[in-house]
Amino acid sequence: MTDPEILIVGAGPAGMTAGIYASRAGHSTLILEKEITGGQLAKTATVENYPGFAEPVNAYDLIQRMETQARRFGCQFQQAEALKLQTSPGGLKVLTTNGTVSPGALIICSGTQPRPLGLENEKELTGRGISYCAICDGPLYQNREVAVVGGGDSALEEAEYLTRFCSRVHLIHRRDQFRAAKVIEQKVRQNPKIILHLSCVVRKINGTERLNGLEIEELKTGNRQLLEVAGLFIYIGLIPNTAWCREVVLVDANGFIITDEHLQAGPPGIFAAGDCRQKTVRQIATAVGDGAIAATSAHDYLTRLAG
Ligand code: NAP
Repeated sequence: MTDPEILIVGAGPAGMTAGIYASRAGHSTLILEKEITGGQLAKTATVENYPGFAEPVNAYDLIQRMETQARRFGCQFQQAEALKLQTSPGGLKVLTTNGTVSPGALIICSGTQPRPLGLENEKELTGRGISYCAICDGPLYQNREVAVVGGGDSALEEAEYLTRFCSRVHLIHRRDQFRAAKVIEQKVRQNPKIILHLSCVVRKINGTERLNGLEIEELKTGNRQLLEVAGLFIYIGLIPNTAWCREVVLVDANGFIITDEHLQAGPPGIFAAGDCRQKTVRQIATAVGDGAIAATSAHDYLTRLAG
């Protein structure tokens, strides 16, 4: 395809909403996605806080609806990873695994990836008992005991989800208070299959070929306990996927992109939307709001340029 007027990197809710707005405004629009459409949303089962769906909506259905809507306005999708962003007096250049794209405007919606615990063995046993995605790997643990680490929305929602398959879910959190929304905390506390280990941290991951247990420590007493679990699901926060564009856009100490109220991310013509930008509330609703603002700002920028 010829260079698009608007290039969007990332096909999560922010990117697909930007795609809907940009293509509906009449711009040739290309969305690059390195994995599958949906972003973090593709790693969850159901959504119950997205407006317009009184009953929980299946995450896959929601993604399909967003993609179909973007395609209806002519938005194109391509599987490729953005590797580097460059600016020059001639304009923007994005080097990708599928060649170089030179768009009129760029909307960065490259999202986040899960933060690892950083323990010995963690990398080696990922895919062999350690997972960062309950929706992908939960069904592998039918009637087995597993552990989840974290105290935010993701950890609690996914611990709840895992009780569909697993005989028991040990939820390990480093404090005695959760960061997650009260509504999900209540569900977790009432679920008899979930065992809470509060003020506890994982000290050791056991297993060589496969994970076969965890050593956890209760911080208040120093007591250690062995959990004989077959799986460990890690949900301790997010790292922004911004390494490819950090030389050009402004980022905070954690690598999240700093934007102004128009979601401009530094040099003219570059915008950022969704979880990869510095913000306090990371929700599907806020990601789609970002996508709409960023695409409108990109449209205004291109209109001004055209004079
Ligand atoms: P998060 O909100 O940043 O929570 C991370 C959790 O991991 C916190 O409880 C934190 O503990 C713990 N943690 C961090 N580093 C740790 C370490 N080294 N060892 C042990 N524990 C550690 O991350 P998230 O749950 O992935 O959520 C990310 C964003 O997506 C949030 O804004 C969240 O609201 C949003 N989200 C929303 C929904 C929904 O609305 N349905 C669903 C999923 C995610 P402390 O609490 O002690 O800091």
